[in-house]
Amino acid sequence: MPVRVETFARIEEAARALAATRSARFLGGGTIVMRSVNEGDQSFDTIVRATDPAFRAIRSSGDGFVLGAGVTMAMIASNRDLAFLHPVARAVGGPAVRTMATIGGNLFADAPYGDFAAALLALGARIDIAGSGGAGTTIDDLLRDRARFGQSLVASVSIPRPRDPDAFRFLKVSRVKPKGVSVMSIAAHLPQSGGRIQGARIAYGAMGPAPLRATAVERALEGRPLDAAAIERAAAVATEGIDPPTDAIASGWYRREVAAVHLKRMLAMQGRA
Ligand SMILES: Cc1cc2nc3c(=O)[nH]c(=O)nc-3n(C[C@H](O)[C@H](O)[C@H](O)COP(=O)(O)OP(=O)(O)OC[C@H]3O[C@@H](n4cnc5c(N)ncnc54)[C@H](O)[C@@H]3O)c2cc1C
Repeated sequence: MPVRVETFARIEEAARALAATRSARFLGGGTIVMRSVNEGDQSFDTIVRATDPAFRAIRSSGDGFVLGAGVTMAMIASNRDLAFLHPVARAVGGPAVRTMATIGGNLFADAPYGDFAAALLALGARIDIAGSGGAGTTIDDLLRDRARFGQSLVASVSIPRPRDPDAFRFLKVSRVKPKGVSVMSIAAHLPQSGGRIQGARIAYGAMGPAPLRATAVERALEGRPLDAAAIERAAAVATEGIDPPTDAIASGWYRREVAAVHLKRMLAMQGRA
């Protein structure tokens, strides 16, 4: 079946075209979409693109950043202000994939992909949907029910700048180094006040259909110093309420078995991975 490509200069125009056609798919970097095209996926017959420079812009805004959804992993990895995200961007595929792979595409990538989205979830990102008049949504809402946003276009993602560089941590666990796909990824934002964690957010990638929060771990850490006792408490509930998937990379059983060990390592590490 032929696939029609529609290119728009403005994000809003692309958003309208996407919303108007149920059989349309948005093209970010295409590392997933183009594979579907090559495999003869019949679920879409139209590809929508946007060439708007705003879509690929990285802006400082107050105490955070606004990242256009078309920003690539390579752009993140080469931006000095985003040093705290470099380990995350560099964990996505190899150099060729990172040159194309966008933040927007990572938000919609099925497990075991979605390493960058896990980091955005830990950071409590806000998602700006094109054409929504700035209403936006939380990343928690988007990842909980991505089907609801199937014909929506993510324009940008807003994230806070971690006050202390050590407050944000990321660990990708893969069997093949350095480019392997995740057994799991773990991202943590652990701001501290008076030596105690206040507002813990822990997110896992590849532990569900989309990145998800490890809420039992967050509860175990909240209000405590990040010491050996707190890390043990957190590890004891590493997979509480979580049903990890089985795929070609690892079984659900294996992911459940190793999660606590990797969580402990990530929490105990000084500085970033
Ligand atoms: C060899 C290889 C290795 C990989 N390794 C990793 C890895 O280690 N970690 C990882 O997380 N991923 C990995 N991936 C998957 C993929 O490259 C990334 O998840 C990437 O970020 C997807 O972005 P994209 O722009 O290429 O998405 P696309 O293919 O363009 O799009 C993917 C999906 O997202 C939707 N979409 C894209 N942008 C938007 C938007 N702005 N608004 C709404 N919907 C949108 C598309 O319609 C589509 O449904 C790998 C892929 C390959 C081929």
